[in-house]
Amino acid sequence: MAKTIIISNRLPLTIQKKDGTFSYSESAGGLATGLGSIYKTNNMLWVGWPGINLKTDTERIALKIELLKENLFPIFLTDKDIENYYVGFSNKTIWPIYHYFTQYASFHHDLWLSYKKVNRIFCDEIVKLYKPGDIIWVHDYQQLMLSSYLRQKLPQATIGFFQHIPFPSYEVFRSIPWREEILKGYLGADLIGFHTYDDTRHFFSCLKRVLGIENNLGKIEYEQRTIHVDAFPMGIDFEKFNTSASEQDTTAKVLEYKASLGDRKIILSIDRLDYSKGIPQRLMAYESFLEKYPEYHSKIILVQLTVPSRYDVSHYRNLKIEIDELVGRINGKFGKINWMPIHYIFRAIPFTHLSALYAISDVALITPIRDGMNLVSKEYVATRHLNTGVLILSEMTGAAKELVEAIIVNPNDKEALIASLKKALSMSKEEQKKRMTSMRNTIRAYNVHNWLEIFMGRLAYTKELQKEKASKFISSKNNEHILKTYKKAEKRLILLDYDGTLMPFFNNPYDAQPDKELCSILDLLTADDKNQVVIISGRDKNTLTNFMDDFKVDLVAEHGIWYRKGIAEWKLSGQQTESWKKEIMPFLKMYVARTPGTFIEEKDYSLVWHFRKTDSEFGEMRASELMANLNYLTSQMNLQLLEGNKVVEIKDSKVNKGKVADLWLEENYDFVVAIGDDRTDEDMFKILPKWGHSIKVGHQETSAKYCVANYQDVRELLLTFIKSIE
Ligand code: UDP
Repeated sequence: MAKTIIISNRLPLTIQKKDGTFSYSESAGGLATGLGSIYKTNNMLWVGWPGINLKTDTERIALKIELLKENLFPIFLTDKDIENYYVGFSNKTIWPIYHYFTQYASFHHDLWLSYKKVNRIFCDEIVKLYKPGDIIWVHDYQQLMLSSYLRQKLPQATIGFFQHIPFPSYEVFRSIPWREEILKGYLGADLIGFHTYDDTRHFFSCLKRVLGIENNLGKIEYEQRTIHVDAFPMGIDFEKFNTSASEQDTTAKVLEYKASLGDRKIILSIDRLDYSKGIPQRLMAYESFLEKYPEYHSKIILVQLTVPSRYDVSHYRNLKIEIDELVGRINGKFGKINWMPIHYIFRAIPFTHLSALYAISDVALITPIRDGMNLVSKEYVATRHLNTGVLILSEMTGAAKELVEAIIVNPNDKEALIASLKKALSMSKEEQKKRMTSMRNTIRAYNVHNWLEIFMGRLAYTKELQKEKASKFISSKNNEHILKTYKKAEKRLILLDYDGTLMPFFNNPYDAQPDKELCSILDLLTADDKNQVVIISGRDKNTLTNFMDDFKVDLVAEHGIWYRKGIAEWKLSGQQTESWKKEIMPFLKMYVARTPGTFIEEKDYSLVWHFRKTDSEFGEMRASELMANLNYLTSQMNLQLLEGNKVVEIKDSKVNKGKVADLWLEENYDFVVAIGDDRTDEDMFKILPKWGHSIKVGHQETSAKYCVANYQDVRELLLTFIKSIE
């Protein structure tokens, strides 16, 4: 039976060895607690580092056997690997950069090499565990290269990737020296998931700016694979928290806490020790609150539960010292014999204690400076089954996008934090109920099970889409059908677009003269008397003559406005006018002036605005603005607007590549192929006879029967035509 292999840096258990036997406890942290309730109940195998270094093979095998019973598979790493890959690159480079703490980031080549090495170790183990039909699900920022390594070894595998931390904006991401490689690392996956739409839009922006890869409504075409990227806000095990509050163990703990904390309002903050959580900022705001509102002295207690984490990174040790000092200072300043304003706990606590804390707290104060999701806020809401309690939530968390009825604050705004505390402590029960009910409905509906189902559904859909597309793709190996008809034919028509089909794109369009390989292909193709080759292009007729004069081909220029059969003169297809140019030209000139790097190409009966040389996002923004304006301007002018590859073209609407291709199709051909990469080529595809072969270059939506990936594949295909006759 096919299984799902979950991969994360750490297994979701903390393992200890005492007197030769192993004991386990559940790990803290979003990923472990979030997926923890899923992997046991499904056909899943969780692969990760067990968090313990065992010296002998016998010990390792013993632990492996134990863990396999729990659907867990350990990958043992050396202390040095952990130091460099996890403590080092993951937590000193990726974590701070991805959380916008650039001042804490360090960039060391050795750490990067170690990171890749460990990702490879994971890859090798997974390849051994993998069986066809399995689903591989890679998690988080410690495994950013893994999907691409797996793709190299298992080209057909279904691979999902989910990132639990934010994806930063391009301006921050670009500071990583290995940014290209890292981005390509993600692209081994079929589905890439983030918590929020903001993360996906930052990811797309980096793909475009760093790798030049565009997305189309969340779809990327990369190495002949369609990849989906989307936001999947992670849910929690709602029922587990919902019911926990009424369970006996929890209620006993609640009574115990109430007895020791007294009849006071409890404000709860829970975080791992991390600079991204905004703990000092929160404590200072609490201090100012107590200064501003002395009437709350003795009436409230802030329970700050901090879970130790990453103590081997110096910034975390310094943070611990800072928090200790702040707690000491605030308790020293305001505390009395019978009241301490902050109750500080620095350790992880068991689940029942945690739910008891959620249950007794009147306010949850969750104010990270940056957090991919933040599950604590959701857990608080899920535990509040009586619909009371107030959540104050940082707008910098992924959860804030869903829990919109919380009091949403900017965690850097001390005055806003103070005001939010005041508002929370004075909120009426009705208001609490209204807000809490709505938040509970949200997280009940999008719980961790739905999250899993939606992610897996999307992954399956992506694979289906890939299969559908793959069936359209032809290569030199699977084009027997086309070849058979080619060989049999007595009179063949070969309609070829030029840029992007026979040649790649250049920044300067005049640099695209045919190279040696193309010259030889055209020579060979036209040497066969049965072949009629037509270069059917959007280029102006002079450039096309210049490029193609040495070949026995017919030519079409300006998307069908001009055509030339053999060595005859160029002819206009129908009546053309250029008087409209006077009106459009000043407009285009204004766009050139406003968009550095763009230029105008003037053809006999069309105008083109090129934006390939400008920043891609800026160019696209201007192009859509230009299109919108031109649409309005040209509505009464019989003009057609074409959005091509980094160009906007304006031409007579009566002519197109399809209509002009008819001039050849009227003759009696028994083999027809049309190949093109552009939207304008669709007109040509549509008018081919049913038995004709239309071939799209690229992955975009098309009416063509077949697809090839790029101009090189077109050349290969034409070569197979030639060779089939030899
Ligand atoms: N948590 C825990 N034990 C504790 C304190 C917290 O297991 O003593 C869990 C908490 O229930 C939550 C997770 O740690 O599920 C923290 O996840 P969150 O997304 O809030 O932050 P992260 O640690 O992933 O940055």
